[in-house]
Amino acid sequence: MIDPFGREVNYLRISVTDRCDFRCVYCMSEDMTFLPKAEILSLEELERVCSTFVRMGVRKLRMTGGEPLVRRNIMWLFHALGRHLKTGDLDELTLTTNGSQLGRFAEELVEAGVRRVNVSLDTLNPDKFKAITRWGRFEQVMEGIAAARDAGLKIKINAVALKGVNDDELHDMVRWCGAGGYDLTFIEVMPMGDIGGETRLDQYLPLSMVRAELLKQWTLTDNDYNSGGPARYVDVAETGQRIGFITPMTHNFCEACNRVRLTCTGTLFMCLGQEDAADLRTPVRASAQDDLLEAAINEAIGRKPKGHDFIIDRRRGDSGVGRHMSVTGG
Ligand code: SAM
Ligand code: SF4
Repeated sequence: MIDPFGREVNYLRISVTDRCDFRCVYCMSEDMTFLPKAEILSLEELERVCSTFVRMGVRKLRMTGGEPLVRRNIMWLFHALGRHLKTGDLDELTLTTNGSQLGRFAEELVEAGVRRVNVSLDTLNPDKFKAITRWGRFEQVMEGIAAARDAGLKIKINAVALKGVNDDELHDMVRWCGAGGYDLTFIEVMPMGDIGGETRLDQYLPLSMVRAELLKQWTLTDNDYNSGGPARYVDVAETGQRIGFITPMTHNFCEACNRVRLTCTGTLFMCLGQEDAADLRTPVRASAQDDLLEAAINEAIGRKPKGHDFIIDRRRGDSGVGRHMSVTGG
């Protein structure tokens, strides 16, 4: 699948549920209204859409959410999609998780063919963890990460850089990830969805400042490693691990974008930072054959936009998109 700007689209991210067992302050408000069941694609429908994408050229699938591991019977979907790894039609099946359920599922994920997992963790301080996630239990996530490591999964930690929250722990996080053998990626907070009370302007910490702080203690060397995503990487000489920086606010990485995003209602977003979307649920439910679905996917890829233009500044406030990150899963 090639988009109008000549970019090959070979990566699909799927938000399998909009629900979550946490309420992270930058992601959700505390009293979220979730989607009614009838609007949500069944696991069988999700499997059909994903498999159609694989047939059309997608080589990498990432389950996300909401929290993907709180969707009932989600392991069925991992096992069902894992068959494409065995045939060689898919290079990677993976997920982004808050880690709370990894203790239960790490081994089964490996059985399904998952080899790497991204775990979101913004702090190593249990009190701050509670303040950020509102409902999360730090110990449970630590146990989940340990279970994932013991099961043989390669782990990458994703941390959203939050001004006045985790900016005093950056070195600790680098040290901890180094000791555990985990790569670490910092992410700038993006203006997506109402979060009640706070504004993104209060939370926003440009990664240029994170990098400047890290340089005080670590030897960072630019690395052209490309995980197929928007992160730019450096090697940390002292730990031997990599650090990635995802900078949607200060650097536009759209020129190499290779991905589209499916929500749990079957809506396909061709760009995280734009409102335009295509409805895939109607063609899925209209016919048991995949012709209508394939046509809808082709039509959608044909209007993938050039890029996003997020803005957070004092004059204009948050100027982003109305939907929450949990809709598309980041
Ligand atoms: N629940 C899973 C988790 O937390 O990893 C998967 C979904 S979560 C929406 C995916 C990623 O988006 C997490 O790393 C989270 O920190 C990040 N995220 C959520 N809201 C964000 C925002 N407004 N700006 C930047 N990153 C955000
Ligand atoms: Fe849930 Fe992930 Fe959003 Fe936190 S970032 S509220 S864990 S979906």
